Amino acid sequence: MRILLLGAPGAGKGCQAKKLAAQYRIPQISTGDLLRSAVSSGSSIGLHAKSIMDAGQLVPDEIVLDIIENRLQEPDALSGFILDGFPRNEKQALALDTMLTKMNTPLETAVLIDVKDEILVQRIVGRESCNDCGQIFNLFSSPPEKDHLCDSCGGTLVHRADDNETTIRSRLKIYHTQTEPLVNYYKHQHKLLKIDGMGDIEGIFLVVSDFLNEKEIH
Ligand code: AMP
Repeated sequence: MRILLLGAPGAGKGCQAKKLAAQYRIPQISTGDLLRSAVSSGSSIGLHAKSIMDAGQLVPDEIVLDIIENRLQEPDALSGFILDGFPRNEKQALALDTMLTKMNTPLETAVLIDVKDEILVQRIVGRESCNDCGQIFNLFSSPPEKDHLCDSCGGTLVHRADDNETTIRSRLKIYHTQTEPLVNYYKHQHKLLKIDGMGDIEGIFLVVSDFLNEKEIH
């Protein structure tokens, strides 16, 4: 299965990508996660990316494309992948098509998770994720049983530095101007599945997996 998840920050891409990755046993490839681990490792890419990410801007295409190109060649991605947070603009989408054509493994589906901006702001402000297993919680809609501790593994929950209201507004603006045009890009390729992201996590997952099963995308 070779799919990607499109949607504004907070739409639920990460949650759905994790569920799909577990169900279909293929990796979730999140450029946000890859960049955050570059930041934590203190690499030169991380040092360059940190202030850009904290400000909610897009990291330069050359950096992201390099990271993705390397990641897609790793053995676990050869049997399929779920891209989460990539591509984020037309240049990245074109580059992805070129990479996948070269590898003879074209993209099968682009899933758009559609959620209204005001809901997204509330979701992101309340978001916490586990430092150890990556599980995502929301202090308003799906809080952990114990404050700041992961229900699944007991790890510490952290709130991302870029999940504050000022940064979210700028990330949403960038989403609407640069990433949203990709909806038409994939519509023209007849690869778009648009789903309402206002439902519960399980319900959305069922809609996506039913669609993939029906199309025999494994
Ligand atoms: P995310 O975890 O997907 O919300 O990404 C967090 C931040 O990482 C974004 O606000 C960007 O600064 C950066 N980032 C993630 N993916 C990309 C991408 N495909 N292109 C450029 N910047 C990205």
